[in-house]
Amino acid sequence: MGVGLGDDVVIVGGGISGLATALALHRKGIRSVVLERSKVLRATGGAITIKANGWIALDYLGVILRKNSLQVKGYTFIDLDKGTRSTEPTRMEEGEIRTIKRGDLVVALANELPPGTIRYGSHVCRIEPNGGGAILELSNGISLKAKVLIGCDGTNSVVSRYLGMKPPTFSTTVVMRGLAHYPEGHGYEHVFAVYKKGRVTLGRNPLDDKVVYWEIMQKWTPQFSEISRSQDLIKVASLEALKCFPDEMSDMINKLIPGSMNCTRFGYHGPWDILLGRFRRDAVTVAGDALHASSPFLGQGGSMGLEDAVVIARCIHRKLSEACPSPEAYEAALSHYVNERRARLVWLLVEANLMINMKMTSPPMLRIASRVVKSLLFRDPMGNARFDCGPF
Ligand SMILES: Cc1cc2nc3c(=O)[nH]c(=O)nc-3n(C[C@H](O)[C@H](O)[C@H](O)COP(=O)(O)OP(=O)(O)OC[C@H]3O[C@@H](n4cnc5c(N)ncnc54)[C@H](O)[C@@H]3O)c2cc1C
Repeated sequence: MGVGLGDDVVIVGGGISGLATALALHRKGIRSVVLERSKVLRATGGAITIKANGWIALDYLGVILRKNSLQVKGYTFIDLDKGTRSTEPTRMEEGEIRTIKRGDLVVALANELPPGTIRYGSHVCRIEPNGGGAILELSNGISLKAKVLIGCDGTNSVVSRYLGMKPPTFSTTVVMRGLAHYPEGHGYEHVFAVYKKGRVTLGRNPLDDKVVYWEIMQKWTPQFSEISRSQDLIKVASLEALKCFPDEMSDMINKLIPGSMNCTRFGYHGPWDILLGRFRRDAVTVAGDALHASSPFLGQGGSMGLEDAVVIARCIHRKLSEACPSPEAYEAALSHYVNERRARLVWLLVEANLMINMKMTSPPMLRIASRVVKSLLFRDPMGNARFDCGPF
C-alpha cells in the first residue's frame, strides 16, 4: 500500500522534532505524514527549557506558547555537603529562557497540523531503498513508499541505522523527572535551583505558582531498566534517592502530578559523529535526537530539533519553488539541509560534550581540562542560544 498522492514526505516519530517538522512543512504548503508507534499523542513527560533560539524557531512555526511558560530568572547552586550556595541571575538581554510543560509544547504543535497527519500505532521496523526514496515496513505488515523520508525517531532511531550513523553513547547517569502540584502555591522563587548531596543532584524549576518541575540525576544501575517502566517504581526510587535531602524535597515528590514522571538514561552523540557522519542517503535524512542526541546539561536538545524543522522545510520549499518535485530535487533539498546544519550542530555538541565531562564523574584532569577549554571556546554561556535559524 502506498502513502497516496500528496504524502510524498514521510516523517518517522511524533515527538517534538517530528511534529515540528510536519508543521514547518505544512506552513510551507507541503503535506507530510507522521508515523508514530505510540497509540496516542505522547504528551507526557515533565518540562523542557526552551532557550532564545528555540523561541525564535517556534515564532517561525506560528506556535504561540509564551503565556504557558515562565521566564527562568536565574540559577541557584546549593551544595548540601559543603553547605555552600551560589546564585547566577539571567538577564533579559541574554535572551529568553523559559520552561514549559513538555505536554503543552507537543499538544500545541499537534493541534496546528491538518487532521490525519499523524498516524498512530505505526511502528516502522524496516527500511529499504526505493529509487531516491525508501520503502518502510510497519510492524502491522503494511508497507509505505516515501519519496522523502525524515527520521525524527529519537535516540534509538531506525532511520539513523538505515543511514549507517553511529548510535549515541548512553550515559552512566539516569534522570528521573516529574511535576509536583502545590494547591496552595509553592512559594519558590522562579529560579532553577540545583541541590547536590553525595552523588545525587536534584534540579527544581517552578512552571507557575503552583506547579514545580523536578529532576533527579544519579548513577545508572541495571535495575533502572525495570524502574523506568512503572510510575510507582519511579516514585519509590526518587524518594529513596532524596532520603538524605531536606524533607521539603520528599514532600515535593509526594505532591506529584499522576503520570508526569519518567526515567531516562540519556544518550549523546559526539561532535565528530556529526562532523564525519553521513546523515543523508538519497532523499532520506534525520532530525532531532535521531541526529544529535545531547546531554540535558546544555538544555538545547528540544530547541535544536525545532531549528532542524525550520531549516528542513525551508530547504525543501526553496527547491520545490525552483524545480518540479523529482528525486533529484528532493535530494538537492536535503543536501542543503545537511550542509546548513552541520557546522551549527558540531559546535553545539562540542559545548554539550564538554559539559558532560564537567558535570559527570569524569577523571579530575578531564574535568579541569574541559572547564578550561569551555571557558576559552565558549566565553559567552548564552552564546549557543544566540542563533536565528531563519529566514523561514
Ligand atoms: C533528562 C532530560 C532533560 C532534558 N531537558 C531538556 C531541556 O531542558 N531543554 C531541551 O531543549 N531539551 C532537553 N532535553 C532533550 C529533549 O527532551 C530532546 O532533545 C527532545 O525531546 C527530542 O525530541 P525528538 O522528537 O527528537 O525525540 P523523541 O522525543 O524521542 O521522539 C521520538 C518519537 O519517535 C517515536 N518512534 C521511535 N521509533 C519509532 C519507530 N520505529 N516507528 C515509529 N515511531 C517511532 C517515539 O515513540 C517518539 O514519539 C532533555 C532530555 C533529557 C533526557
